[in-house]
Amino acid sequence: MSTLLREHGFRVTKGKQALLQALHAHNAPLSVGALHEALGKHAPNPTTLYRSLLDLANAGIVRRTDLNTGIAHFEYTPERPHHHHIVCTSCNAIEEIDLCNVGTLEKKVARASKQFAHIDTHSLEFFGHCRACAQ
Ligand SMILES: [Zn+2]
Ligand SMILES: [Zn+2]
Ligand SMILES: [Zn+2]
Repeated sequence: MSTLLREHGFRVTKGKQALLQALHAHNAPLSVGALHEALGKHAPNPTTLYRSLLDLANAGIVRRTDLNTGIAHFEYTPERPHHHHIVCTSCNAIEEIDLCNVGTLEKKVARASKQFAHIDTHSLEFFGHCRACAQ
C-alpha cells in the first residue's frame, strides 16, 4: 500500500497506511464515522480523515459511493473491479454485488443525449430490505 501511495504522489504516512488498511480489510463501503471508529486511538480527527479520503478518491485509490444515507461512504478499489451495492433501507446493511449489466443502458442513454459524445462510467446503487429486516 505504501507503493500505491508513492505511485500517486502521496507522502507515505502511518496515518494514510492505516486508513487504507482499514478500508481494505472491510472490503465494502465504510462511512467516515465507522472508519474513524475502526482506526481506534490512532484515528485523526474526522475533518482530517475526510480530507484524506477525498484526496485518495481524487487519486482513484478509494471510491466515494453515495448510498443515499446522507453520509459519504468510501471503499478501497485498486483490487476491486467495477461493481454495485444493495443497501438495506432499515438497517443500512450493505452487500457487494459483482454484477453489472448496464452496458446496453449506457448506449441507450448516450443515444438519447444531445450533448454527450460518450459515456465513460456510471454510478448505480440498489435499495431494499435485507433478509433480517424483511421478516
Ligand atoms: Zn463495493
Ligand atoms: Zn436490514
Ligand atoms: Zn455497473
